[in-house]
Amino acid sequence: MMGNADIQSKMDAVLKSKMSDAYEWAVSVSKSENSYNVSNPGTDYAGSVTIPAFLEGDPYAAGHNHTENGDGVPSGGDVYSLLSYVSNYPTFQTFYVYGKGWGGATEVYAMNVYDRNAALTFLNQYPKNTNLGSNQKFTGTIGTAYTQAVQDYNAGKYNASGISYPYMSDAVALSLILNKYNMGITLSRKVDNEPFKTISATNQVSGGTTTINISNCD
Ligand SMILES: [Zn+2]
Repeated sequence: MMGNADIQSKMDAVLKSKMSDAYEWAVSVSKSENSYNVSNPGTDYAGSVTIPAFLEGDPYAAGHNHTENGDGVPSGGDVYSLLSYVSNYPTFQTFYVYGKGWGGATEVYAMNVYDRNAALTFLNQYPKNTNLGSNQKFTGTIGTAYTQAVQDYNAGKYNASGISYPYMSDAVALSLILNKYNMGITLSRKVDNEPFKTISATNQVSGGTTTINISNCD
């Protein structure tokens, strides 16, 4: 339900206009019988935001913008926020982030949980306090693998199919990390008015050379 039109239009109304703002704004989304209930936007200060309280219904999703026309690729801190919601709420499903892509396109990223047990196992093995830096980036072995993926992608060491719009290297690295550490989470991207497409990046090692295989699926 990442591309749910009701959620999308309600979040767009709040967050699309905020991407040039110096502050992050956020909404919470809960699900009642036949509708999704999107909260009013809340903000606190640049670089961090608290998701507003959930309205009536089951906690289901959250969305926020990145600031000053920066990209919308979820940070390591965003991954840990999603994991904490999954841990606290059995109905929590998706974390959305708004930002700017190449050439100023609007990109919306969605991290969606498809295996809750895998997500909680990861959180148990790699807790936030030892794997996330104060800059909201992954540290330790995860950080090393992430940085390597950014470098490999920027050096052109990848095969990609079905791309209609170039990727941010951070999006490729995040997808690779989600797969490599079996987090039970997919990363999808929506460019302008196109539908969400899932980015799946994995490493292929052959003869001592690593290549990132990237697929882009509906
Ligand atoms: Zn964020």
